[in-house]
Amino acid sequence: MKIIVLKFGGSSVGTVERIKKIANIVVSYRKKGYKPIVISSAMSGTTNDLIKKSAAISNNFNSAEYDVLVSAGEQISCSLIAGRLNHLGYKSQSWMGWQIPILTEGMYKYSRIIKIYKKKIIDSLRSGEIPIIAGFQGVNSNNRITTLGRGGSDASAIMCAKFFNAQKCIIYTDVEGVYTTDPNTLRNAKKIKVISYEEMLEMASLGAKVMQPTSIQDARLNRIDIEVKSSFVKKGGTKITKRKNLISNKIIRGISFTKNDAKVTLIGVKDKPGIAAAVFKPLSNNAINVDMVVQNISANGKETDLTFTIKSDDLIKTQRLIKKNKKIIFRELIVDKNVSKVSIIGVGMIATPGVSYRMFHALAKKNINILVISTSEIKISVLVNKKNISKAILALHKEFKLDK
Ligand code: ADP
Ligand code: ASP
Ligand code: MG
Repeated sequence: MKIIVLKFGGSSVGTVERIKKIANIVVSYRKKGYKPIVISSAMSGTTNDLIKKSAAISNNFNSAEYDVLVSAGEQISCSLIAGRLNHLGYKSQSWMGWQIPILTEGMYKYSRIIKIYKKKIIDSLRSGEIPIIAGFQGVNSNNRITTLGRGGSDASAIMCAKFFNAQKCIIYTDVEGVYTTDPNTLRNAKKIKVISYEEMLEMASLGAKVMQPTSIQDARLNRIDIEVKSSFVKKGGTKITKRKNLISNKIIRGISFTKNDAKVTLIGVKDKPGIAAAVFKPLSNNAINVDMVVQNISANGKETDLTFTIKSDDLIKTQRLIKKNKKIIFRELIVDKNVSKVSIIGVGMIATPGVSYRMFHALAKKNINILVISTSEIKISVLVNKKNISKAILALHKEFKLDK
């Protein structure tokens, strides 16, 4: 069977009119002889609304119930797509994760797909139906509904492509593909034609919302080629594939940024073994992800300062955990919510010296102060004041000639 997976994101199914448009896209593949499997997100805004409701009910909303609640949006969009395809004369049915079933493991809110039972969907395809599968959701071994993290419909699409052995996996979204940076932030961002899994994974993990990071890990592990394109305009998009398949003379492929970081500094921490572990253990036990970490060399051999970043949503909880932790003695706790992380990403930096200098120099020329730096083989991140973010992106985009 010539199976194709077509995934539609929130804005692609954001209104009834949009749903009518994407139903036509599905039909166009059917007419080309493909057997489409459609994955849909919730209509844009729906998931956010549901999350807000859970927060208004309780600031400690049960995670299992959270998944039941926030997965509800996909049920609406899937039935509307199936309904439109029926209207156009095609057999089509919506499928929730538990009906297939799509089996997941891991924590509620952040589960991962481990298996998709194929029989019912294959039977449906054989009978000429177009299955519309709810993205973002599955069930766990206790038969409870789970979700896959924000943006998780991307992972649903990749895993469907894997389990159903699809010939193609197309992610339809509201931009024309993956750009050198968010095209809604920088007007002269350029569309990238081909990008490696590694670079896309870094770009996504460092804030490029266009693909969910977990989904790129799944694609890379299973060697699933992805095409990201617009459901609004008919134009070529971006291919995400193995590094081997691509030639590039660009050192830096793209720039990502986040806007929801917070910086925490502990001043005057006792400089002795086990302190960093004592600070970070309770955070890890509470599923708080610590990102950049810097610890200064102690000037007097007794005390040091420790700085780290977290998501700003976790700030209150983090402050509470640190203050009640009797194992850490410090003089002062300083927090800053007005920070953003800007990162440059590219496999080209492995073989090119001087990339960090160029980055720091470009920022310095614009008078942008760097608060924290972190690097890996293919990325350099800096933390800057939030007010400098657009200036920083523009300066780096120019410095590495990404607009060319
Ligand atoms: P969907 O609902 O289709 O899943 P998302 O909102 O999750 O769409 O992702 C698309 C958005 O990602 C775009 O509207 C764009 O603003 C944002 N984005 C951030 N970084 C990038 C990038 N480098 N390339 C393309 N889009 C990006
Ligand atoms: N609807 C979910 C979300 O908003 C999943 C997705 O859009 O991929 O996070
Ligand atoms: Mg998305």
